Amino acid sequence: MAILFPIPPVAQPESVGIAGLCDAHGRAIVDLRLSVTDRCNYRCVYCRDEAEAGFGELKIEDYARLVRAFVSLGIEKVRLTGGEPLLRSGLLDLIREIAGMRTLHGRELEIALTTNGHLLETMAKPMKDVGLSRVTVSMDAVDPEVFARITRVPGSYERVLAGVRAAKDAGLEPVKINCVLLRGFNDDQIEKFGEFARKEGIILRFIEFMPLEEGRVWSPEVVVRECEIVERLGRVMPLVELPPNHSSETARRYGFADGVGEIGIIAPVSRPFCGHCSRIRLTSDGKLRTCLFSQTEHDIAGKMLRGATNDELRTYIRETVNTKEARHHIGEPGFLKPSRSMVHIGG
Ligand code: SAM
Repeated sequence: MAILFPIPPVAQPESVGIAGLCDAHGRAIVDLRLSVTDRCNYRCVYCRDEAEAGFGELKIEDYARLVRAFVSLGIEKVRLTGGEPLLRSGLLDLIREIAGMRTLHGRELEIALTTNGHLLETMAKPMKDVGLSRVTVSMDAVDPEVFARITRVPGSYERVLAGVRAAKDAGLEPVKINCVLLRGFNDDQIEKFGEFARKEGIILRFIEFMPLEEGRVWSPEVVVRECEIVERLGRVMPLVELPPNHSSETARRYGFADGVGEIGIIAPVSRPFCGHCSRIRLTSDGKLRTCLFSQTEHDIAGKMLRGATNDELRTYIRETVNTKEARHHIGEPGFLKPSRSMVHIGG
């Protein structure tokens, strides 16, 4: 199996040559993750507790203004997330507005969205029509009963599957499925997911579980590591490693030997990719985060609402990017969980 491909150098998009965002470690920041709500209609047991409390939301026009400031600094890809982004009213207006923006080089932005898929069946086509490029759907099981136990919503599997198919029909391709694996919880789904990816013609990505949950579930033993996933999928059908699509690709890609189906493994715990990180995050209440695991947030919404000009917002973004952490410290002594869980940061 494994033909190993060398990891390409740090992302250096064309925009950096003009005036793009670059952090103190030489990484080009071209990827904005924007959370449009931290409300969610699922209560995935490894992610959320029962509490409803959230940090709040900005107005759609405020997100649009901030995205415009980022794009003017070299952002090339915007991923909308949450919470559950499809719960957010005005989402179509926001996508339409972002789709009208151009990169520093006059190209279209790539606009992606991460969703649990529950409302996707009816939303896929309207989102495509206003300019969404593609979707990633989160699914942590392919067994309907296990799925409903994880999401705590009866009938959720059927809804999400219909959403995945609607996204394909709408042309939001490639449709990717993200699955977070926890040992003793859903790791029995690995082989079934392999079959599912092949049958549905989607790109499946397994993600290692990170210490970002609301409860206290995480421990190194709960993480299902890349080598085990590859070994078990290889029993379904031999795998071949595929080259990365681009230099900041977070997933290691594999194809099945018969050419049907693609698997990716995102291994932030066992194979961190911080050296290639090109991301910055904006939370639903307008705080900039330079890393999922940041201990500090930067209140750009506060500045904006107090009357900052566009130039002042851009300066603040540049200063914030400059503070981006070199790497996360998961699993190291003294590691501190961030003050917010994944659902409130924006996954
Ligand atoms: N509601 C949307 C969804 O379900 O895709 C977007 C937000 S959700 C927080 C984004 C992703 O984060 C989901 O795929 C979820 O499984 C993942 N996630 C949540 N907690 C995680 C953790 N502790 N480690 C790794 N991924 C996590």
